[in-house]
Amino acid sequence: MPLFDQLIRYGMPFVPKAIVGKIAQRYVAGEDVADAVRTIRELNNEGAMATVDVLGEEVRESSKAEAAVEQYLGLLDTIDREQVDANVSIKPTMLGLKIDEEMCCGHIRTIVEKAAELDNFVRIDMEDNTCTDATLQIYRRLLSEVGHVGVVLQGYLHRTVADINDLLPLRPNIRLCKGIYREPRTIAWKQYETVRANFIYTLEKLLQGGAYVGIATHDIHLVWAGMAVVDRLDLDPSRYEFQMLLGVDPELRRIILDQGHRLRVYVPFGRDWYPYSMRRLRENPTVAHHVTRAMLGLGPR
Ligand SMILES: Cc1cc2nc3c(=O)[nH]c(=O)nc-3n(C[C@H](O)[C@H](O)[C@H](O)COP(=O)(O)OP(=O)(O)OC[C@H]3O[C@@H](n4cnc5c(N)ncnc54)[C@H](O)[C@@H]3O)c2cc1C
Repeated sequence: MPLFDQLIRYGMPFVPKAIVGKIAQRYVAGEDVADAVRTIRELNNEGAMATVDVLGEEVRESSKAEAAVEQYLGLLDTIDREQVDANVSIKPTMLGLKIDEEMCCGHIRTIVEKAAELDNFVRIDMEDNTCTDATLQIYRRLLSEVGHVGVVLQGYLHRTVADINDLLPLRPNIRLCKGIYREPRTIAWKQYETVRANFIYTLEKLLQGGAYVGIATHDIHLVWAGMAVVDRLDLDPSRYEFQMLLGVDPELRRIILDQGHRLRVYVPFGRDWYPYSMRRLRENPTVAHHVTRAMLGLGPR
């Protein structure tokens, strides 16, 4: 990556919040649940499904975790009332994982039970490696106790192959993504091509083993590999879906849908948009271009 792009990427924390907000608008539906519903409707009209994320990061006070549970219960009610095609995605650390695992499991159970009551579904996002064991344990418990729940595995982790071996007997529902956190070489594949290769290997393993898979990527090579493997295994479209983030490559969204595959878009909304937007901007290959234009007071192009 050119030096200037790297400088901008690592200098992102020094870019004024107002500028970050301006260029990150595409990644977030808005601040309110009504904004999320509007975005989901647009996606549904395009033929895509959605998974909705209430923006928020790790909490250290249980009152904040309880407030997040209430937000998700309200969101599930809204999805049901508005009759939109969407499920929800949650982050364990926002529901108290770093305060107390048992309490966090209880909070997630409350949300999953509500989803089950409404015949909806909860996806547990995967965070950094300090959360992997606890998140998978919570998933296993809630899958056997309630159902209506899925989890995420990251193609960059060395452990993912073993995690799949453990989970396959449970017929899991897995979102497979590359992984976004900065993990050390001792636990994660670091080279771009190796992460791709492991994504394809683990995707095939999951699909062959009978898992439902959300193929979450914007990497055209992996999208192609996903289409090739579902064709080779002659899988019914109900056995998998592609997944993409709001604001990233809408043209690729159209290409996937036009090929007859199901596609779900991750729709984040809420007031706590800054950390999420920073993660997205760091991944945007043209971030330097956007930041420079915004700094010069030029509109997006
Ligand atoms: C639905 C969904 C849910 C996810 N959930 C999790 C999770 O729970 N835990 C986790 O660790 N990670 C999660 N991720 C993030 C994921 O791990 C990757 O970090 C992210 O998807 C980028 O990887 P990629 O496969 O798209 O490949 P990349 O090689 O990063 O991107 C491929 C191409 O996509 C385009 N692109 C990618 N990102 C952007 C961007 N921000 N702006 C503009 N263009 C972009 C670029 O053209 C790039 O060349 C999720 C991703 C998706 C799609």
